[in-house]
Amino acid sequence: MRGRRTTARREAGPVALLVEILEGTESLSGAACTRAPKLFDPRDSTEDSATAERRHHAAVTLCLDCPVLDTCRSWADASRDQTHAVTAGRAPRQPGRPKNGSDQ
Ligand code: SF4
Repeated sequence: MRGRRTTARREAGPVALLVEILEGTESLSGAACTRAPKLFDPRDSTEDSATAERRHHAAVTLCLDCPVLDTCRSWADASRDQTHAVTAGRAPRQPGRPKNGSDQ
């Protein structure tokens, strides 16, 4: 598949673990969220819901122009625990967002 990460070299320790985790994952090179990553964070206990909603709306807007939206959405749909942050153009608790494990 296009953009799939591969590696031929093994190292010991945390690097080996990170390589093992990333092997087989799609590359999200050029992801728009790297320009403003804090917009995508889950709401924390110190942020009021209206502020978080505006922030997440801005993040979703970035996603809709992201060059790797389709790849990101495929990854998000196959992943668990992606429901509290903005991911792949979906704000937390929006219609159409898969629930944890419901699509598995
Ligand atoms: S579609 Fe995915 S990779 Fe692109 S900005 Fe949104 S969360 Fe980031």
